[in-house]
Amino acid sequence: MKITSNVYQVGGLPGSASSDAAIYLISSAGSAALVDAGIGGDHANVIENIKHAGVQPKDIAYLFLTHCHYDHTGGANLMRSATGCAIVAHELDAEFIERGDSRVTAASWYGTRMEPTKVDRKITGEKENFTVGGLDIVMYHAPGHSPGSAVLTLVSDGRLVLFGQDVHGPLNDVLRSSRFEYEKSLEFLLSLGADILCEGHFGVVEGKVKVRRFIESFL
Ligand SMILES: [Zn+2]
Ligand SMILES: [Zn+2]
Repeated sequence: MKITSNVYQVGGLPGSASSDAAIYLISSAGSAALVDAGIGGDHANVIENIKHAGVQPKDIAYLFLTHCHYDHTGGANLMRSATGCAIVAHELDAEFIERGDSRVTAASWYGTRMEPTKVDRKITGEKENFTVGGLDIVMYHAPGHSPGSAVLTLVSDGRLVLFGQDVHGPLNDVLRSSRFEYEKSLEFLLSLGADILCEGHFGVVEGKVKVRRFIESFL
C-alpha cells in the first residue's frame, strides 16, 4: 500500500500475517529502509511486497526497530539476511533483542521464543539522524510502552510522516511499561504536529487533526 511517494506499508494486514505488526518501507533515490520487521512467519510475502513497491531488497540500508516486541522484531534476523541491512534500535530495548528475552519481548505471548538478534547500531540519546537517499530521518526515544521505544519522522511530499508504531500501548509490567513515560511521550508526539501517522496495529491515520485526535484518545 502506497502512503506517500516515499512510504509504503509492506507488512501487517492486509499485506502479510495478522500476527505481524505493520511493516513500513521508506524509499528514496535508490536507497531504502524498513520500519519494523513483523514476526518473520510471512517473510516471503513481505519481500514480494517490497519488490512490488519497486525496491530491491539489497537497497535496504536500515531496519529501524521501534521497540523490542516480538511482533515487530521476530523477523529482524531473516530480514537482515535477505537484505544486508543494519538493524537499528534504542539501547534500552536492544538489550532484550540481543539476549533473546522472550518475556520482555512478549514472544512467550505468541507461544514462541525470541531469537537472540544482534543490533548493529544502538541509539543512546534523545534523538539520532539518518539519511536514506534524499530523505532526512530522525529517530526519537519515546519510552513508555517499553523502556527503549522509539519513533521516526521524515518529510515526504511536503507532509510530516510519523512512524509512531505502538502509540496505543498497551502498558504492562511484564513489558516494563511506564505510564509516566508513556504520557510524556504522547505529549511529545502531539508536539510534532504530524500530517500522517503510521501506527503499528491501527493502520495509517491521515490529516493533522485526525492524527492529533488519535494520539489524544490515549492520553
Ligand atoms: Zn509493542
Ligand atoms: Zn505491537
